[in-house]
Amino acid sequence: MQVATTVAQARALFEIFPRPLGFVPTMGALHDGHLALVQQARTECVSVAASVFVNPLQFGVNEDLAAYPRDLEGDEEKLAQAGVDLLFAPDVATMYPDGFSTAIDVGPIAAHYEGAIRPGHFRGVATVVAKLLGIVQPSVLYLGQKDAQQTAVLRKLVRDLEYPVHVEIVPTVREPDGLAMSSRNAYLTPEQRGAAPTLHGALLAMRERLEAGASKQEAIAAALAALSPAALPDYFDVVDAQTFEPLDALAPSSFVVGAARFGETRLLDNLWIA
Ligand code: AMP
Repeated sequence: MQVATTVAQARALFEIFPRPLGFVPTMGALHDGHLALVQQARTECVSVAASVFVNPLQFGVNEDLAAYPRDLEGDEEKLAQAGVDLLFAPDVATMYPDGFSTAIDVGPIAAHYEGAIRPGHFRGVATVVAKLLGIVQPSVLYLGQKDAQQTAVLRKLVRDLEYPVHVEIVPTVREPDGLAMSSRNAYLTPEQRGAAPTLHGALLAMRERLEAGASKQEAIAAALAALSPAALPDYFDVVDAQTFEPLDALAPSSFVVGAARFGETRLLDNLWIA
């Protein structure tokens, strides 16, 4: 695996690797969820690139930027083993040199849910991914279903700005007890880790109620009943997969989405409704 840390190095490498080139952007602290994206890229593309960059633009002032888990050496080993050809691991000054001032605002799709709770978050995500796409120029961008609103935001970015890249969404990888894998799971105390799978359970209960014909309010009540009393719910809702607008009831191409706090740690999850 070749590693680039500057834009010039990255460009030189990305130009010579045969296409199609799959690209997996990450913030590192890699787990099997990230590696599922790499594995899918490996089966569908001739070359595979990944990036590790903890993007300060997508963290709010009171969020966990400084504490966010970092393990570049471990990440390099995992990516090399998973068959990544090229790793781009820039520092903050490389991505955002003095004078950097552009920001990408994707509009209302970023307004609800994570966008409402984390003002500026999706602007930071869209801006860094727009820049990474400009550097890597991949054929296929691989994103995880776990961050459903992020995938909707980035699909919109690619569509609105006509990036010549195909977007592939990879199903959520879960722990055996149903908890969606996340770098932030490392923050959980043993008790919180014990309670955390109830977020997935709440979404299962919600989907089951909706599929049985219950109203959205009844389904949300079932979700809240299934969630551990130790957790603080942020939101549970049914949303359109494309627009992320709330829906009143079950509809084709929708998700149930949920987020809850376990102590200081916010976890999010979602389930597809066929
Ligand atoms: P992150 O490092 O958290 O920014 O995640 C990098 C990419 O991995 C994003 O596209 C995430 O949606 C994806 N990802 C994170 N966790 C999972 C998971 N459990 N299953 C599938 N994809 C995931």
